[in-house]
Amino acid sequence: SSNGAGAAGKSHGKLPYLNPRLPTHKRVKDLLSRMTLAEKIGQMTQAERANATPADVTALGLGSILSGGGSVPADNSPEGWADMVDGFQQGALATRLKIPVLYGVDAVHGHANLYGATVFPHNIGLGATRDPRLVEKVSHITAEETRATGPQWNFAPCLCVVRDDRWGRSYESFGESPRLVSEMAVAVRGLQGRPGQLDNPDRVLATPKHFAGDGLTTFGTSEGDYTIDQGISIVSREDFARLALAPYWPAIRKYGAGSVMPSFSSVDWTEDGVGTNVLKMTAHTELLTGVLKGRMGFDGLVISDWEAIHQLPGDWNTQVRTAINAGIDMAMEPAQFREFITALTEEVQAGRVPMSRINDAVSRILTQKFELGLFEKPYTDRRNIDEVGSRQHRKVAREAVAKSQVLLKNRGWVLPLSKRAPLYVAGSNADNIGNQAGGWTLTWQGGSYHDFPGTTILEGIKDVSRGDVTVSETASAPVPRDATGVVVVGETPYAEGFGDVGGPQWAYDPGDNGIPRPVKDMKLSAADQQAVDTVCSQAAECVVVVVSGRPLEISPALLSKIDGLVAGWLPGSEGDGVADVLFGKKRFTGKLPVTWPRTVAQQPLNIGDADYDPLFPYGFGLRTR
Ligand code: BGC
Repeated sequence: SSNGAGAAGKSHGKLPYLNPRLPTHKRVKDLLSRMTLAEKIGQMTQAERANATPADVTALGLGSILSGGGSVPADNSPEGWADMVDGFQQGALATRLKIPVLYGVDAVHGHANLYGATVFPHNIGLGATRDPRLVEKVSHITAEETRATGPQWNFAPCLCVVRDDRWGRSYESFGESPRLVSEMAVAVRGLQGRPGQLDNPDRVLATPKHFAGDGLTTFGTSEGDYTIDQGISIVSREDFARLALAPYWPAIRKYGAGSVMPSFSSVDWTEDGVGTNVLKMTAHTELLTGVLKGRMGFDGLVISDWEAIHQLPGDWNTQVRTAINAGIDMAMEPAQFREFITALTEEVQAGRVPMSRINDAVSRILTQKFELGLFEKPYTDRRNIDEVGSRQHRKVAREAVAKSQVLLKNRGWVLPLSKRAPLYVAGSNADNIGNQAGGWTLTWQGGSYHDFPGTTILEGIKDVSRGDVTVSETASAPVPRDATGVVVVGETPYAEGFGDVGGPQWAYDPGDNGIPRPVKDMKLSAADQQAVDTVCSQAAECVVVVVSGRPLEISPALLSKIDGLVAGWLPGSEGDGVADVLFGKKRFTGKLPVTWPRTVAQQPLNIGDADYDPLFPYGFGLRTR
């Protein structure tokens, strides 16, 4: 045998696992039979690019490498990415069995860590479009830009059903309705294609996340000061199935998702008595093995979230054993991948993790690698690399932006604006592409300071408008008489946690019983309120666009001064799309994917609740002609 895979090969031809004509399950079986325990455990291990070298991939036989949010190569260009991924691949192909490495990223609104990529609206905006076909198209473009630059695996889509907008990941959700989120599960097909298309150069493995109940956690209940991100879903099994599990059925059964990521959060079944059995999803045998792999028939791989194993009770070996026995197939161990390998090896040798579990996990991982065509084409197929950030892709993003805008108020039919009207544009988010892209853009948290190809909302307005445009970010310049004011306000970027508006991301207050709890509000900053007040008091008429990852409180006094109010969400790189609806190049058609509360004190507030009294109900959205 000239393939270097050992003496077990036939004297002529390829080893069975290297034969692309054989069905995947036969190739998996053959390869598995050749692997040592160390090689198997290596496959179950994922390290972070900044902490591992190609030589580590060779030495440890690592199955996967990831880029955590914002972990980009020094050369953050399409070629720079592809070279980096191929470098790790070279390390994998230097192993005895030449099992290719799988490279994963969070391309959650486009391949947004890559400079120059098309950055789409975050899911909350896509939910507002009510257009699953568009979401499939957006996901397909994301897959193309991702695969062309190396990574074959995307930790997306988030199929979280957000039930409390204080959650810092609300914008990663398509909305509060499990039905809406289930429709948007078509994003899985956008990424992976139809069965058999995963090896195409424009497809990636999808990862519905975070299984399950990540958006259903309980905030500061009387039972205790439960946090909300990575918190506890205190819920009946019936409600959990309805509100958290529902979107996974189509994602798995209809679209064949190849991987799933369990949630950092826990569940606590109310029928068993609150607090009696609080279990982390990473250790949840009933849900991971019983429901996901059993009842749902999921045959892909389960990847633990970032160091989630470390959050389990017990010592390190116990944590590793618990997670693997519960159904984790691959461990996301960004830094402690060596320690993971040591612990799992010990647990297997001691008979506390059965070999059958290891074989099952490795089979699932290998299956996806075969389906991705990595054994035949391990290196990046760069044929679509020039499509990254292309005009065609940006056009689709612009369309998605326009469709995601929700018109909440239109007094005196102020919208659409006349192209000839003199305009006065102000506000903190009018000319800030970093703010309009939000978190998970270039860096994990995103940043107001980020600058990358695309258009800001102000640039979009200037492109479309033919009247005089006066710009005053702080609304300090006088508003010209007869001008229409446009004030673009909202949030600054954040990711995970609580996403405090205008405050520190990770601030905690001592709770009633001394346990820290998050400081949270959903208010416009004082400066934003001031800008709206100033412009709307002076201008002949005024329009306010709220650029944010969730609804923000707007007081009745402020609202009464506003003529046109638009929920802009986090549109991403194509601010033009906002201008398209403001000036009537496109109609407003978006509908609220979440309930817009009057005050944060109403949270959680969802359609169907008793005493449902929102500022704008779920599904609300005015149209323009
Ligand atoms: C997030 C996941 C993400 C992972 C890898 C975690 O902190 O919860 O959604 O996929 O990091 O970046």
